[in-house]
Amino acid sequence: MRQFVLAANWKMNKTPVETAAFFQTFLSGFSPSPGRQTVFFVPALDITTAIGATNGRGVGIGTQNIHFEKKGAFTGENSAEAAKAAGCEWTLVGHSERRSLFGETDLITAKKMKLALECGLKPMLCVGESLDERTAGETMKVVERQLTVGLEAMTAADWASVTIAYEPVWAIGTGKVATPEQASEVHTAIRAWLERRAGAEVAAAMPILYGGSAKPENFREIASQKNIDGFLVGGASLEADSFLKFCAW
Ligand code: PEP
Repeated sequence: MRQFVLAANWKMNKTPVETAAFFQTFLSGFSPSPGRQTVFFVPALDITTAIGATNGRGVGIGTQNIHFEKKGAFTGENSAEAAKAAGCEWTLVGHSERRSLFGETDLITAKKMKLALECGLKPMLCVGESLDERTAGETMKVVERQLTVGLEAMTAADWASVTIAYEPVWAIGTGKVATPEQASEVHTAIRAWLERRAGAEVAAAMPILYGGSAKPENFREIASQKNIDGFLVGGASLEADSFLKFCAW
């Protein structure tokens, strides 16, 4: 049975002190349950605090970005090896803000996917179309290109560690959530793509998350649709009470 994954993307928010305070509140209301994974993608400077605060509590911590080289002269970048050594289990790859603000191409996401796996991190590949691309009827063309290139080097042994997040760019941080039908249509197409690429077993086991203005008030209807296996939540994950509503569902 595939896992249901609830992932928080804090982006560049919270200091270590705020991180500790968040987890104090969050963990007082959280209990892990079988078949579910809860993950926090926190800013790099909060990783140590997040790992210390959540140790043994059934919550995974991840980095929001890694560099595609293992080490070297890359000032300011996050090392996948160091993230793993610090206690991270996960990393985001190809978030739309990385793509649009920091020039992350599909080829770069492919290298990051491979290195994350090599370093023992579980990569969550983010894909999604812009509003112009959706309006032009190119949603699946864009998403399939991002999947094809980003996941090109995956071997049979890699798939179990991979997760996909479908995040329409026009819905991220805008308050404009995809309709349950829009989300389900793309998730179903992603699963069909996976079946062609890696076989029915891999496709059936792959968690495909929705992200884009998911809120306590709107996520249930999306969650009840076919092929939606969790959420990547930005703004609504910053308050413990708000994110707990996703986790308690
Ligand atoms: C995100 O950053 O991945 C995201 C989905 O943000 P928001 O929930 O704020 O739209």
